[in-house]
Amino acid sequence: LVSRKKKPEDTIVDLKGTKIGDGIPKFVFGPCSVESYEQVAKVAESVKAKGLTLLRGGAFKPRTSPYDFQGLGVEGLKILKRVSDEYGLSVISEIVSPEHIEEALDYIDVIQIGARNMQNFELLKAAGSVKKPVLLKRGLAATIEEFINAAEYIMSQGNDQIILCERGIRTYERATRNTLDISAVPILKQETHLPVFVDVTHSTGRKDLLLPCAKAALAIGADGVMAEVHPDPAVALSDSAQQMDLKEFDEFYNAIQATPFVK
Ligand code: PEP
Ligand code: MN
Repeated sequence: LVSRKKKPEDTIVDLKGTKIGDGIPKFVFGPCSVESYEQVAKVAESVKAKGLTLLRGGAFKPRTSPYDFQGLGVEGLKILKRVSDEYGLSVISEIVSPEHIEEALDYIDVIQIGARNMQNFELLKAAGSVKKPVLLKRGLAATIEEFINAAEYIMSQGNDQIILCERGIRTYERATRNTLDISAVPILKQETHLPVFVDVTHSTGRKDLLLPCAKAALAIGADGVMAEVHPDPAVALSDSAQQMDLKEFDEFYNAIQATPFVK
């Protein structure tokens, strides 16, 4: 169902009028984790000021260590809902278990399925059974074929509103947190009709690489870029080292806007 052979035209995911996959690059910014209303609102204000419409923030955090901050859960979704209503934005947040899918429908605009859950088939099927767009991230060590099959799991249940997101894969390379597989973008565009995003924060884990990797993503045909922004990254409860502060966010956004890829 996700194959371009079955459907030659591009799928466009419409989020309150923002059309993902229409040929104009889109941007999703926001904190790694939702920590408080004030924290999310500060980022939302900066997103809104740029004329952008999409906000991200994790409420259920799938952390590598069980002793790390696990997220605010449903309270975090409520904060996202309040902020998105106040600022007129669409929000994307990760859901990690099938039983939270229904509840999440009231609070968020896009269900994110994270890298660690790309092959959580019960979760994929649950997300496929609702009428809510899904942003599906590539697994930490998933092949492109496995990634496409994960999207197929969602679509096989009836939900065809899917955005694929390349977020880097595990390789022997330690200079970056993961290895951004940039060639996955045109492969996914050729093999499927779905929009493709690139998460430059989790793929690189390095603030100095956000801009060049975002440029590369757009140059190679990505439909959008995701990056993390926090009003005070030094005190962030997760991914403190790699989130942009608001000034870095402005600089990043101005620089990417100045490229020919955004016209
Ligand atoms: C995230 O986007 O918050 C996240 C945890 O990313 P990933 O699943 O790609 O690691
Ligand atoms: Mn993060």
